[in-house]
Amino acid sequence: MDADKWQITRFPAPVLQEPARPVEEITEEIRRLVERMVDVMIEYKGVGLAAPQIGVNLRVFIVSVDGARENVNVYINPEIKVSGELEAHEEGCLSIPGVYANVKRYKKCTITATDLDGQRFSREARGLEVRAFQHEYDHLEGTLIKDRMGQVQLISARKQLRHLREKYEENRQASGA
Ligand SMILES: [Zn+2]
Repeated sequence: MDADKWQITRFPAPVLQEPARPVEEITEEIRRLVERMVDVMIEYKGVGLAAPQIGVNLRVFIVSVDGARENVNVYINPEIKVSGELEAHEEGCLSIPGVYANVKRYKKCTITATDLDGQRFSREARGLEVRAFQHEYDHLEGTLIKDRMGQVQLISARKQLRHLREKYEENRQASGA
């Protein structure tokens, strides 16, 4: 992994649209990755961030429901079990700036994951975590909020998605990639 390249990635970057790989071992590099994710999440005032959002194809996400650094929790190789009814609510995503989607999520969710000490733990999500876990887990599967929009919502987001595609292409050409 190339730490210098750990910058926010935006739609339509391929890393955001493919399944991420499991973390095999908690190494120093994984710790550095998480530190960088926390810095980026705070910088962009997010409440959660998944590793693909800084260009790393690994199954790691962080969540802090109030966006505070001291409340960040780390979830490595997470599995989530959803239950209850579905509820629609507006969501945004740092990787698709300017697009807001009314996304249906389950009202209950249990998460099992590995922490930075390599310990597996399991607990029920509380409050805003329920939606955040489902949103961040989607990132590890390569699913974005635009993939969960209905036709009508997609039509209204079309212009912004096109703008993001054009911007991505410009940046790619400018960097000579
Ligand atoms: Zn997101």
